[in-house]
Amino acid sequence: MSRGGTPRDEWYADGLQFECTCCGACCTGVPGFVLFTPGEAEAMAAKLGIPVETFMERYTHETPEGQSLREHLTHEGYDCVFLDRETLPGKAVCSLYEARPLQCRTFPWWPEHLKHPRDWQRLSRTCEGIGRGDIVPIEAIRIQRDAHQGDRGARGG
Ligand code: SF4
Ligand code: SF4
Repeated sequence: MSRGGTPRDEWYADGLQFECTCCGACCTGVPGFVLFTPGEAEAMAAKLGIPVETFMERYTHETPEGQSLREHLTHEGYDCVFLDRETLPGKAVCSLYEARPLQCRTFPWWPEHLKHPRDWQRLSRTCEGIGRGDIVPIEAIRIQRDAHQGDRGARGG
């Protein structure tokens, strides 16, 4: 049996339509947590060209879930400190894109969004990429979903 079960185990066995529009909605909204590993902190600091200690002090804060990236209030909500609304007109992009944490890389394929069709449907109210573009095949969804699950497990979450 393949990892994650046979293809028919999941309600999304035929894949799901998704294409990110860079609306930025998943990087803002109500206050939340963007968690990361020590290795990811090093990668983000390296991307910014600063020591990891400076990165931690300047861009992160302690939360009940663990150390999280900071947010700041904008007209859209609590933006992640690395959300860039300036560079591309009408878009909101991650200024750390290549170094962004796994939590961000695996969105929207988090297990809680995939439990039931209604969870996916609910997410589509905030993520406008759902229902757009090509079908993402089940194999690709599983990789993202399981990576997110493993990451969370490694944190004890
Ligand atoms: S690190 Fe980048 S992708 Fe992750 S929440 Fe912040 S802006 Fe969004
Ligand atoms: S909310 Fe969805 S469409 Fe918008 S940036 Fe995030 S993943 Fe892309």
